[in-house]
Amino acid sequence: MSRVYLTGAGPGDIELLTMKAHRVITEADVIIYDRLANPEILDMAKDGCEFVYVGKEDGRHTLPQDEINDVIYQNALKHKVVVRLKGGDPFVFGRGGEEGAYLHQHGVNYEIIPGITSAISVPAYAGIPVTHRGVAVSFRVVTGHESPNKKESQIPWENFKTDDTIIFLMGLHNLPKISTKLMEIGKPSDYPCAVISRGTTKEQKVVVGTLADIVQKAEGIPTPALIVVGKVVSLRDQLQWFENKL
Ligand code: SAH
Repeated sequence: MSRVYLTGAGPGDIELLTMKAHRVITEADVIIYDRLANPEILDMAKDGCEFVYVGKEDGRHTLPQDEINDVIYQNALKHKVVVRLKGGDPFVFGRGGEEGAYLHQHGVNYEIIPGITSAISVPAYAGIPVTHRGVAVSFRVVTGHESPNKKESQIPWENFKTDDTIIFLMGLHNLPKISTKLMEIGKPSDYPCAVISRGTTKEQKVVVGTLADIVQKAEGIPTPALIVVGKVVSLRDQLQWFENKL
């Protein structure tokens, strides 16, 4: 009987892989992986392990999700240990739930191996804590893929008036609309905001600005990138550590 592991690969720094993920990667007969999963992880696989790339970029899928589901299923019919490796955590905008449901419907055994999500770890490597006593008592992780101008949006923009930290994933291409929308709902134009590109890796780039100037400052920054909006961004002045180490 085969087993599929829906596995989080972490945000990029290879050492942020969990021990459980590492174990199944070394045992895998096939690894089905995303663009966001650090390719160095594949070097950990045993000899003869097969690799299948089903990459996705910023919500644009190179393979439609139903085809990815089927690729996983077909591999489960052929192999004993199937690792489906996904960037960050499989259940944070990773569509791991859809893959798990598909496997369940087809009677395939699977396990979820959570990963360190970029939503928290990428800000951390930029010296930005997503909560901080007296500054932010909660944080939200929001899709930035959906245009803020969309009618009947599922995103509760009106709730974003508070000082909770907001982390937008998949939002770089919508940054102009997101920053404008946040100012429209009443956030001040000098409200702190950061864009972090390729976080936790040697190519990490952090741009700090305000809602008014972040678009201009972040121009040309490469993906993957996430957006952090909140007063916690200012803590980077004291907490920046990663760039100092490189
Ligand atoms: N499941 C993943 C998120 C998938 S959505 C997780 O838990 O991290 C993909 C988005 O994640 C990207 O568009 C980007 O916003 C963000 N992202 C992933 N890795 C990143 C990195 N190393 N640096 C910055 N953003 C990253």
